Formats: sequence, structure tokens, C-alpha cells
Amino acid sequence: MSEEIVKKGPNFIESIIEKDLSEGKNQKKVHTRFPPEPNGYLHIGHAKAICIDFGLAEKFGGKTNLRFDDTNPSKEEVEYVDSIKADIKWLGYDWEDREYYTSDYFEQLYQWARKLIIDGKAYVDDQSADLIASQKGTPTKAGTESPFRNRSVEENLDLFERMKSGEFDEGSRVLRAKIDMASPNMHLRDPLMYRIIKASHHRTGTNWVIYPMYDYAHGQSDYIEGITHSLCTLEFEVHRPLYNWFLDQIVEEGSIRPEQNEFSRLNLSYTVMSKRKLLEMVKTGLVKGWDDPRMPTLSGLRRRGYTPESIRNFAERIGVTKVDGIIDVSLLEHSLKDDLNIRAPRVMAVLDPLKVIITNYPEGKVEYLDTENNPEDESMGSRKIPFSREIFIERNDFMEFPSKKFFRLGPGNEVRLKSAYFIKCEDFKKDENGIVTEVYCTYDIDTLSGGPGVERKVKGTLHWVSAEHAIKAEVRLYDRLFSDPNPDGHKEVDFKEFLNPESLTILNNCYVEPSLQKAKALDHFQFQRLGYYNLDPDSTSEKLVFNRTVPLRDSWGKMSD
Ligand code: ATP
Ligand code: MG
Repeated sequence: MSEEIVKKGPNFIESIIEKDLSEGKNQKKVHTRFPPEPNGYLHIGHAKAICIDFGLAEKFGGKTNLRFDDTNPSKEEVEYVDSIKADIKWLGYDWEDREYYTSDYFEQLYQWARKLIIDGKAYVDDQSADLIASQKGTPTKAGTESPFRNRSVEENLDLFERMKSGEFDEGSRVLRAKIDMASPNMHLRDPLMYRIIKASHHRTGTNWVIYPMYDYAHGQSDYIEGITHSLCTLEFEVHRPLYNWFLDQIVEEGSIRPEQNEFSRLNLSYTVMSKRKLLEMVKTGLVKGWDDPRMPTLSGLRRRGYTPESIRNFAERIGVTKVDGIIDVSLLEHSLKDDLNIRAPRVMAVLDPLKVIITNYPEGKVEYLDTENNPEDESMGSRKIPFSREIFIERNDFMEFPSKKFFRLGPGNEVRLKSAYFIKCEDFKKDENGIVTEVYCTYDIDTLSGGPGVERKVKGTLHWVSAEHAIKAEVRLYDRLFSDPNPDGHKEVDFKEFLNPESLTILNNCYVEPSLQKAKALDHFQFQRLGYYNLDPDSTSEKLVFNRTVPLRDSWGKMSD
């Protein structure tokens, strides 16, 4: 997959930008923004949006702002702001000094709202949000006008001022745009502009008790920042007429006017993407936190062992379209394996150890054997691994009664030990429960790489670690967090019903080669024949903890040396 070089034409947004530039629109500038609401951690869906926003600006020599869309103090926190910044940086994008907050524009937005009132285009409604919602009508039936719709400008200005000064209770009044209660577009039926929220805001404290709605704030913020292309997901397509209506009220002749375009959201199979649901899992302890390696958050994927490059490649592969759908999560895993294949040093680790004693190898002798760090990349060099009389192999690499197709170890079978000798099974020992506890082998001294014995055919190659030198480790195996391909797609059943009870398995009795003592948190490795793993931040020098990032395709016994 990695070799395929597909020369793709421009995607539809690139075509729009090319056209805008050729027509000299907006002073021939390209300026995008990524506008997260700081009410949760970023997930892989946001990564798609980030790659589009920053990627397009990069491609056309433009700029991208980071704008925190912080208009709801009851759900937003500084912790989220910090994590969002860290995640975007980790992905490899830079907003330079353009870190903005919608809350920085509260005063300007307020002034523009007053202007709308003065122009007879906004009014204070004393009805509750529920009552207003019930008057919306349906797509085919006009809504009902509010009895407060035709208040005088003076009364509206006065009430709005008093809303701002905190005189009224939450929910008792709102400011609405006065557009058209019969519009076929429901979003134009006198939408809310401001509501009263008496909660402390993470930046403006208690300065404000009226907060703008997304629709009222977003286009205006784009305009203030000189955004040319405001890109968002398809669900906002029906909001676009409103986005433009608000701009029509304020955009001045000759200034940059932002244009909204929408692309399809990323949905992944076996994954829940909504921040609200991810938050619910965090809060109720169904996962260990936002960075639980099973989470589709960027912090979870990072801890799991994903690389920024693999995520950017994935975003490139899925492309930018207007077609909604569910992407197979295996595509994400493919991008990851392609990247780790080049990057991850090969090491040896045994997850389910079985002791092998090489009876003709001298007791006390240790040899340091050469092994390459990555056959895909010679520049990664080689290292020495200790070999001695007692080693561990994987328990399922031994069979007491090997079948014809079992090319690994069994009575009378000879196998190659990766980067070491051929060994032949002579005998084994069982405990009182019939469990094999030790396997006895002999080795052939002539079979070390390049030796005369290697001409002999052996079909299986096993990984191993020296029992005396190996380090004990904990290994965490992950499976999909949900057992249903579309956990969110069942109307009658809550998504949590589909949580996979076996999404985490902890192995406590694993052994890894001694070089891993030097590993740093999040370093990734290929455990030969097993998969890609990384060192978990929970790891200490006393206790190494690894995460399985992604297994290799089953390659048991077939690995070439
Ligand atoms: P969620 O629906 O997961 O709670 P959100 O849309 O409320 O996310 P925001 O913080 O508002 O989250 O999103 C910031 C930007 O990321 C928006 O422009 C939004 O369109 C985009 N975005 C969010 N989810 C996805 C997704 N699944 N695929 C692509 N872009 C997304
Ligand atoms: Mg949102």
C-alpha cells in the first residue's frame, strides 16, 4: 500500500480555492482556521479537520489560526485548551502566534448585536427556550411568531442591556435575530443569538452573563480574523444561509469576506466519536481517562503508539469529499503499520514464556550475538543480544504432538532461533497437571549465521530471549473498545451496551530483551513476529510496561531470518 503513488487531482475544496484565487477574490489570500470548542479532548475526526485546515493553507501559501470557540462556560475548561494545543503540535502543525478565542470578541459581538437591534433585525424574547422551540414549525409548516417580536428598538436595547448586566435569570430571556418565521430553512426562523448563562468562564470570569450562540459568533469571528475559507463538517451546510445572513449585516465593502464550505465528517467503524460520549466514558470510569490507549482521542492514539505521520497519511488517504460514510478502522491501522514498519526497531520479547534448556551448551557461557535493528532500514544498524543455555520461547511455539504443518518446536523438530543457532527438541518435562514446564534441546554450533550448518533446511524461525538476561515486563493487549461496527447507529440501544468486555488484557509474565531497559516512554518497537508495541508512560525502571499498538498479521513460524 505504501508504494502506491496515486497522483490525485485536486479535491473539491482545492478546486474552490483555485477558482477563488484565479478570480482574485479576497485579495488572493488563503486563510483558514481550526475552531475547536474546549469541551473535551481532540479525536481522530478532529485530526481530519486539522489536516484539511492546516494542510490547505500550507498548500496555497496561506495561514491557519487556532481559534477556541469558547462560548459555553458551563462545559469548557483550561485542561481542554492545553490538551488541544499539545495535540495539534504533536500532529506537526503550527498556528504560530495566532491563538485566538471567541471570548476575545465578546465586546465586538455585543456591539454588533446592538446594531442589529437598532436596524430592527433583532429582538429580546421573554419566552423560554422550550416554548420558542415549540413555535419553530416544521420544514413544511411555517413557525409561529413570538408575541415579543415587534417590540420597539428602545425597549429591545434596554432589555438587552439589562440581560447583559445580570438583572435577569438564566433562561428567562434570549436575544433573537428577526429574519423569517416562514423560511423553508428552519435555521432562519428567528434563531437565538444570545442566552443568559451565569457560570464562570475560563477566560472572562464573571464579566459576562450573556453568551453568543455558535451561529451568531462563528462567521463574525471568521470575519474579524480575516478568514477566507471557513471549512467545517457537513452538518453545518444548512446553517450556511444564516452564516451569510449575519455576515451581510456587518461586512464592509472591500474587506475580506469569509466563505463557508463543508466536507463530510470522519466516522470510523467500531468507534464512537462524539465528544459528549467520550466524556461520558471518561467520567463514568469505563475507560481510564481521555488518553486511555483504547480511546479514539489523539492523546489515546499517541499513548497507544500511533505516530503523527501515520495519522496524517491516513487523512490524506481518506481524502476530502461530501460523501458521508463509515471508514473501516483497519485503514487507520494500515497507515500505522506502514509507518511503524519503517520506523520501529525490531526487538525480541516473549509474552507467554516457556523455558528451553540447551543441554549441550556450556553452563555459565554467554555469547553476544549480532542482530539487525530493522531489515527495512540498514542505517538503523545492529545490536548485540545475549545468548545462553536457558532461553524463553513462546509457549505456543511448542507442541507435544506437532501436526504436519507445525514447523515450530516439537519432539524431534529442528528450528532456527532468530539471529542465533538451530536447536532440536530432544525431550520435555510436564508438571502434575500435564502442563509442559521445560523443553530440552541440543544446538548445532555450526548453524550460527554464515556457518556451514545453515545449508540445512529448517522451516520455522522462533524469537527468544535469554532467561538469565531478559527483563520481566507487563504487556497490555488492546482489542476494539466496541464489539459492534456501528455502536452509535442503534436507535433503541445505548452505545455503551456494545462495549467489548475484552478490550484490555494484561499479561504480567512477559520477558523482553535487556536492551529495552533503556527505552523511553512512547518509544515504539516491533516485537518480532508479534506486532508493534510501545513503552507506556506508566513504566518505571523497576517495572517495564508495554502497550500493544497493533499486532502483525499472523506470521507464526514463517518468518524468514
Ligand atoms: P463532536 O461532534 O465530536 O463533539 P464537535 O464538532 O462538537 O465534535 P468541535 O470542537 O466543535 O467539536 O470541532 C472543531 C472542528 O472539528 C469543527 O470544525 C468540526 O467540524 C471538526 N470536526 C469535529 N468532528 C469531526 C469529525 N468526526 N470529522 C471531521 N471533522 C470533525
Ligand atoms: Mg461543535
